[in-house]
Amino acid sequence: MTNKDPKQNQRRQNTLLVRGGTKRSNHKETSEAIFLTSGFVYDSAEEAEARFKGELPGYLYGRYANPTNTMLEERLAALDGAQVCRLAASGMAAVQAALLASVRAGDHIVAGKALFSSCRYIIETLLPRYGVEFTLVEGANTKAWADAVKPNTKAFFLESPANPTLEISDIKSIADIAHKAGARLIVDNAFATPLLQKPIELGADVIVYSLTKHCDGQGRVLAGAILGDEKWVTEELDPILRHTGPAMSPFVAWVVLKGMETLSLRVDRMCDNAQKIADLIGSHEAVNYVRYPTRKDHPQHELAMSQMKNGGTIVAFELKGGKDGAYKFLNALEIVDISNNLGDAKSLATHPATTTHKLFEADVQAELGVTQGLIRLSVGIEDIDDLLEDVKQALDKAK
Ligand SMILES: *Cc1c(COP(=O)(O)O)cnc(C)c1O
Repeated sequence: MTNKDPKQNQRRQNTLLVRGGTKRSNHKETSEAIFLTSGFVYDSAEEAEARFKGELPGYLYGRYANPTNTMLEERLAALDGAQVCRLAASGMAAVQAALLASVRAGDHIVAGKALFSSCRYIIETLLPRYGVEFTLVEGANTKAWADAVKPNTKAFFLESPANPTLEISDIKSIADIAHKAGARLIVDNAFATPLLQKPIELGADVIVYSLTKHCDGQGRVLAGAILGDEKWVTEELDPILRHTGPAMSPFVAWVVLKGMETLSLRVDRMCDNAQKIADLIGSHEAVNYVRYPTRKDHPQHELAMSQMKNGGTIVAFELKGGKDGAYKFLNALEIVDISNNLGDAKSLATHPATTTHKLFEADVQAELGVTQGLIRLSVGIEDIDDLLEDVKQALDKAK
């Protein structure tokens, strides 16, 4: 497996997206090869022994590593400026492994309240069963993170922009607070993508991704990734991944490699479309408010623009008509599909209160701003005029 470019993983972003990590077999294939194998063979018993001892390089078993997966890991690490990347079968498998590798019984996690509900389940319900404490804070209130620190705090976890309200956390300041406390900052960067926000450059220690979202971005596979420094990954994370087995299929890694090739084309178009749709929604009389980070009326507009390159692909807004208005809007859409996925080439709309965030009690929903009138719109790459027409006619019917 070789590549002719000696600076392959130090190129500029749009080159990395297409070529980062690619290694060719002796057949010199153009597209990355899929090594759909669970195991590997050795020429001799001595070679097997040497490889297991780490004295000879080479793959051992699919649960540990696979050449197709290695290509994707290198591409993602190069894009985020991380030392190393590991893959997982889904975004949630990545989040779980990153948290398990950061805490032990008796430790404490501080996390932003506005999290994807499965992330909150791990922190609030699952880890406490094994003696890990937590405090949830208002992610946008930087001082609250400092106030929540205890002597046993070992991990900070945040999502920015957060799902579904697009609340922004100050990654740089929160990283400083975490480091002073001797804790590791884990950032779920699914909404921003590796293109719009670089958490490691801002001071985060670990990034987790649902690659299901923009990186595949075409609704085909579930996939996740964890990025961090080599010492933590090899000493803490690798044993967990190897022995608990949330491995990504090489076929899935190949699909995501192909997705990455068009990531910037898709995300750029999606951001352009999202900005225009947010402006249409913001001026419509059926709407209480719209949230989109590049708009001046986003409560953390300046912070968002200081740490993100663009506004992202998600628009959140509240209809005046509550649940009834939200359902009228969703049911009137002709192009945009009703779906709880996001980051897809196809535009998708969801009612978080009854779907993605239905696990939360009413008081938690209220605290998070997940109201009955709230819609989360994931903007795709369709023709902007078709999308504007569709959203406008659906808003007209939601009045
Ligand atoms: C979707 C999502 C996840 C979970 O990813 P899966 O690939 O669905 O397991 C985690 N965090 C955020 C912010 C997400 O949007």
